[in-house]
Amino acid sequence: MEEWIIMASSLPLVFDAPKRGMPPRHLADLDAEQRREAVKELGLPAFRADQIARQYYGRLEADPEKMTDLPAAVRDKIGEALFPPLLTPVKHIACDGGETRKTLWRAGDGTLLESVLMRYPERATLCISSQAGCGMACPFCATGQGGLDRNLTTAEIVDQVRAAAAALRDGDVAGGPGRLSNIVFMGMGEPLANYKRVVAAVRRITSPAPEGFGLSQRSVTVSTVGLAPAIRKLADEGLHVTLAVSLHTPDDKLRDTLVPVNNRWPIAEVLDAARYYADKTGRRVSIEYALIRDVNDQPWRADLLGKKLRKALGALVHVNLIPLNPTSGSEWDASPKPVEREFVRRVIAQGVSCTVRDTRGQEIAAACGQLAAEADHR
Ligand code: SF4
Repeated sequence: MEEWIIMASSLPLVFDAPKRGMPPRHLADLDAEQRREAVKELGLPAFRADQIARQYYGRLEADPEKMTDLPAAVRDKIGEALFPPLLTPVKHIACDGGETRKTLWRAGDGTLLESVLMRYPERATLCISSQAGCGMACPFCATGQGGLDRNLTTAEIVDQVRAAAAALRDGDVAGGPGRLSNIVFMGMGEPLANYKRVVAAVRRITSPAPEGFGLSQRSVTVSTVGLAPAIRKLADEGLHVTLAVSLHTPDDKLRDTLVPVNNRWPIAEVLDAARYYADKTGRRVSIEYALIRDVNDQPWRADLLGKKLRKALGALVHVNLIPLNPTSGSEWDASPKPVEREFVRRVIAQGVSCTVRDTRGQEIAAACGQLAAEADHR
């Protein structure tokens, strides 16, 4: 994050400085080398490092007391050194017949964050947070209203995944025992503003045990409001995750207000970077577009969106329209269905694929950040 604060120092409203220090290190913050080092510091043989990691990533166990293949005498020591209190569930809220479950977490220092698990017949997707709060100040977003609290650590990002995978495996989510298959970084925060920790988390999520949970890279989506240099950097990481760019409008004039970071990296630069990503990874880029009544839903904007995307990305693009989930007391509202249908038709007419995203969790305030915002106000 720090590098972006410096680069965007002319945009104090857009990039707030984090308000808190970072929590102590956790096993999931460490790569294989660092894990072995940490175990050595505790005076334990190197093979314990993999053993602990297999418990965490393979068996989804985060309580050293339950790691019964470790000698009882060393579990306390390991707990203190590598498993500081990380995330405690404050509450779970379910809707869609229990198949959507939102969890509000409290981190060790009291920071609130959230994740949403969505079960579909053929997959189970977890939407995770990468920051507590967000400094991007998008005016239609609940998280954006509160500013950035702090970056999440790699472990805090990774543990949202472990907890959801364990809940599914143990049958704690409606629909019976299942397997976590997809991860989207679309919860609170701008993932690429917490670049190093997010990339480390993606590696833990996608590496096979004992290095990680072994999910396919193609099942992971990293979203961004368009931090162009970070998109290019991500393209060079050798990862094949899906990139989702929250565009929300095809013209800079409106985007400057809807997504204030556009003042720093305008649409042409963002689409250039997205093209670089698509070329480097061979992955089709997702364009996210929250359709807002009378704001960005006009037919001419649909035409312009289709034209610009076709020109910049050719066939390597797909548009996801998101019916806006209004936040309480907000002046922003979702577009009427006929307007939405016409918008889709026009984008497709330009030769760009376009669908409307299924909006799970409307009744539990699942637009990013709404649950944490509600809890904050109590
Ligand atoms: S929409 Fe995303 S990037 Fe914008 S303020 Fe909300 S969380 Fe941040």
